[in-house]
Amino acid sequence: MNNKALPKKELGFFPTPLVELYRLSEALGGPRILMKRDDQTGLALGGNKTRKLEFLVGDALDQGCDTLITGGAAQSNHCRQTAAAAAASGLPCHLVLGGTAPDNLDGNLLLDYLLGANIHWSGEFRKGETIPEVAGQLKQEGFKPYIIPYGGSNATGAAGFVYAVAELKAQLNEMRIEVSHVFFASSSGGTQAGLVLGARMFNQLFVPIGIGIEKGEVGEDSLEVQVMNIANTTAKRLKIDTQFSLKDITVRNDYIGEGYGIVGELEREAIRLTAQTEGILLDPVYTGRAMGGLIDMIRRSEISRSDTVLFWHTGGVPALFPYAAELI
Ligand SMILES: *Cc1c(COP(=O)(O)O)cnc(C)c1O
Repeated sequence: MNNKALPKKELGFFPTPLVELYRLSEALGGPRILMKRDDQTGLALGGNKTRKLEFLVGDALDQGCDTLITGGAAQSNHCRQTAAAAAASGLPCHLVLGGTAPDNLDGNLLLDYLLGANIHWSGEFRKGETIPEVAGQLKQEGFKPYIIPYGGSNATGAAGFVYAVAELKAQLNEMRIEVSHVFFASSSGGTQAGLVLGARMFNQLFVPIGIGIEKGEVGEDSLEVQVMNIANTTAKRLKIDTQFSLKDITVRNDYIGEGYGIVGELEREAIRLTAQTEGILLDPVYTGRAMGGLIDMIRRSEISRSDTVLFWHTGGVPALFPYAAELI
């Protein structure tokens, strides 16, 4: 490995815990199930974006930028963690959020306000499509903004998940466990790209399986293609001589149901079962759906009892509260 270390701003508590879910496994009559607790990264209620933001904010500071901008849905966990990262770094933060200003502040949106973010409502766009306009305005005002893409998913952000595999490897070695599959919610692709590249870099033989969370937009690349592209650009950025093709990327799109952020029985059951067997909270949009997918694959014997699976808890728990009506 001859990669030059990327600039990094420490924002979270690492390593996150690696725990075994004995009671969930027993309830399912299934394989050993481990969980990587990235809901416990520590940055304003945690989540997977903290790992990406350590490198994104590191890069912003390295480039002398003085303002962070990103975008997402009104209940975006990525936006909330970006607002917290900005506050912790002494930078102003601008968030471009889908929809219009609601009457009540709740969940992640409440936290965005408390963290001091400037909010711009972007109507039908929830993937930061109007960030360039906000950036242009800020430049005219004399700021030097740093744009963080939707979900923090580019080569810089994904580097956080490359190094997450090294962190996991050390924990697995200490516990003397090998895992066969790693399950996680996959949406903007950076988490999966980092895990796929990290597994290759650190000689981990597990199969990363992304559970797709949203239908692709018409005319947009499939999630598999997006993940492959991010993995390849991240390898270049880290100066690792390797190349990925589509066969290296596994995404399961069977659990998207009615679409992004629409909770169904799959998510409700997974959230309840995990809460009531383990005392661990999942979220309605991402981890509830991904765990629902894992539970289904165990029940249909796509995962065998002799496997050892790891579920990467990517956070999102603050969104439980605004979804209360759909969860009970
Ligand atoms: C953003 C997010 C994901 C998906 O990660 P990507 O890198 O965008 O694919 C999964 N879970 C939670 C809770 C998230 O906030």
